[in-house]
Amino acid sequence: MAKRDYYEILGLPRDASDADIKKSYRRLAMKYHPDRNKDDADTEKKFKEAKEAYEVLKDSDKRATYDRFGHEGLRAGSPGGGFGAEGFGDIFGDVFGDIFGGGRRGANKVFRGADLRYELQLNLERAVYGDTVTIEIPSQSTCEDCDGSGSEKGSDPVECSTCSGVGQVRMQQGFFSIQQTCPACKGAGTVITNPCSGCHGQGRVARKKTLNVKVPAGVDIGDRIRLSGEGEAGKNGGPSGDLYVEVRVAAHNIFERNGADLSCEVPISYATVTLGGEVELPTLDGHVTLKVPAGTQSGKVFRLRGKGVTTVRDRRQGDLFARVAVETPVNLTSEQVSLLQSYEELLNSGGDSHNPRASGWLDTVKRFFEKINL
Ligand SMILES: [Zn+2]
Ligand SMILES: [Zn+2]
Repeated sequence: MAKRDYYEILGLPRDASDADIKKSYRRLAMKYHPDRNKDDADTEKKFKEAKEAYEVLKDSDKRATYDRFGHEGLRAGSPGGGFGAEGFGDIFGDVFGDIFGGGRRGANKVFRGADLRYELQLNLERAVYGDTVTIEIPSQSTCEDCDGSGSEKGSDPVECSTCSGVGQVRMQQGFFSIQQTCPACKGAGTVITNPCSGCHGQGRVARKKTLNVKVPAGVDIGDRIRLSGEGEAGKNGGPSGDLYVEVRVAAHNIFERNGADLSCEVPISYATVTLGGEVELPTLDGHVTLKVPAGTQSGKVFRLRGKGVTTVRDRRQGDLFARVAVETPVNLTSEQVSLLQSYEELLNSGGDSHNPRASGWLDTVKRFFEKINL
């Protein structure tokens, strides 16, 4: 059975003071003392447990060891519960083996391949409706010239002289001896003296890998599609990493997307917004007819419910916001110019009532200057 954590036994946080440790132990000792709980095996066990926890945590050296290495650190060797050089070596190997990437398994240690990221550029329609996209990604495969050995055909790798083929070297650091992956052979135990020309001694060559990526409908910029096991190959039989396909969406010439909603600008002629009428409005799934009421102002936004995007996450159906942009006529003929001038004169003779925004705006401007001149 696994031993309980000493701090947990005493009901204390890991930064508990010496006084707290003592106090907590006294409380538990009183509670579980065998003299007070005769013939109760469970309380006797708890009493011993508390005593053991206290014995370790009251001693600053043992406590430091326990904090770093847990129960394991106190188990080996010397009297009094500490540990000797031998025990320490073992613990050291266990604790640091993985960090140094070597450990005792040496050259044959398995490594998971790295995850890879791929930026997938989509247009808006593909992002909205989904698609299967074929992509090419760089990958590595075993060199066929040397069957992955990295040595030119007919020559073999030779034993590394730095580590005598072990793949590990011992480094002295203070009074600790640390085992490290051999820097000369990177843990392989052998070095290539006559590298394969096909792979320059790497044993692997760069290839392109073709993959079909299923893009779900409604994806947006920044969404990631995970292709399990399509990342970099593992080493020594380790599993491959994953490939993350990150979605990028190109700007659209009509629509702008904001989550589930789309927006666009609709140029409408001066006569149509003045007299009212109908305009054809594009949506992602065809045209709709938009009724424009007479007297519609430039900048007015019409909301078309359900004509946005269905998002991939919550399947929410967005709306389309169409903003009116009144078209200013250009390249007028002299006849058009003179008609427009006559029209303007006629309009002004009718007072402010034809220009709802201008009259309000002029009032605001007037008030603004009055304030400044005060
Ligand atoms: Zn090769
Ligand atoms: Zn070596």
